[in-house]
Amino acid sequence: MKNKFILVINCGSSSIKFSLIDPATGNERLNGLAQSLMTEQATITFKVDGNKEKQSLTSPFDHQIALRSIVDFLTQHSYKEAVFAVGHRVVHGGEEYSEPALIDNNVMATLHRLSQLAPLHNPANITGIEASEKAFPSLPQVAVFDTAFHQSMPKKAYLYALPYALYEQHGIRRYGFHGTSHYFVSRAASQLLNLPALKGSFISAHLGNGSSICAIENGLSVDTSMGLTPLSGIVMGTRSGDIDPGIIFHLINSLGYTQKQVNDLLNKESGLLGLSQLSNDCRLLEEAMLAGNEQAKLALDIFCYRIAKQIAAYAASLSTLDAIIFTGGIGENSDYVRAQVTQSLSLLNITIDNELNVATRFGKSGNIAANESRACLVIPTNEEWVIAKQTAQVINAI
Ligand code: ADP
Repeated sequence: MKNKFILVINCGSSSIKFSLIDPATGNERLNGLAQSLMTEQATITFKVDGNKEKQSLTSPFDHQIALRSIVDFLTQHSYKEAVFAVGHRVVHGGEEYSEPALIDNNVMATLHRLSQLAPLHNPANITGIEASEKAFPSLPQVAVFDTAFHQSMPKKAYLYALPYALYEQHGIRRYGFHGTSHYFVSRAASQLLNLPALKGSFISAHLGNGSSICAIENGLSVDTSMGLTPLSGIVMGTRSGDIDPGIIFHLINSLGYTQKQVNDLLNKESGLLGLSQLSNDCRLLEEAMLAGNEQAKLALDIFCYRIAKQIAAYAASLSTLDAIIFTGGIGENSDYVRAQVTQSLSLLNITIDNELNVATRFGKSGNIAANESRACLVIPTNEEWVIAKQTAQVINAI
């Protein structure tokens, strides 16, 4: 077991998701979640071989305490010696990083600078890295960026129609997120369709609590729906996605909203939750819709329509289209959403087989297209494996 695993860490402001992964195979030895950090309710849950173990964290209930209990758990279960590096999911890598980076003082300084572009995410990632450096002082730490995959986008895709100086002086442009997921499913799609590695043109729809669409040509992202921040693009669980920016001025100037209220409204109170007035959870909304809740149906209609519109728009970004791809919690599991979205895509020659659609859920992958249709793939994403593999590559371990 010696020198075998990468510890993958995804650190949020009050949570840490972690998993121990063999980068060569993607085999996951254990995973877990520390949550409610910075409160007295902070807990950490470890899952090994399907068994869960939950512990309360002790004062000061912070990321450092959580990391320390991960170290203790790894030591008790004789895994600590087998970890040879830590891979961190970092949300924003700006234009500085189109590849993962071995973390040193320079990288940390850049991450601090980039926090300006991602104030909701990068500071938490930095906290996770600092806690992990203390917990594993002898291990290399690698940053894998959500934005890196999209650095191949052409200028016409990533520039906003704003004064050019805002891009030059302040980096205001589209960066895109969910890069590790779009990277993973596009490579898996080439394999599923028996295309040579990195070949093929795809539009992938990562549909989870956060959702984004990406156009990919021969292994490279050519456009994506999230922007400077993860707020733009299609409708999400609690985020609005694209809106007329004039609405923000109207809220502030005419309706008396504060900046913070607008920020919370767009990030936490909109999307499926705001429209349905019920929940951000797609599964729950489907159940409510089946029970006759009209508002839940409306929220799902708008969600699906906007996904279909974005997919159709990306036909303009590609010279051919080999397949569309569904992934993320909703894309992998909701036959309803897939059916609704594809119903609006018949002009792109996309029709699905109803039986295959229902059968391809809960971790299964495959082509759910009807016989005469363009391929329509369902591929469970594996962002942790991408982070583990890229971490190992950065330190030349595979
Ligand atoms: P995150 O972006 O937080 O990683 P996930 O990718 O796990 O989110 O996706 C969570 C979403 O997936 C939730 O809206 C959940 O309801 C939805 N989901 C999971 N299973 C199903 C299912 N069987 N049917 C419909 N939606 C589902």
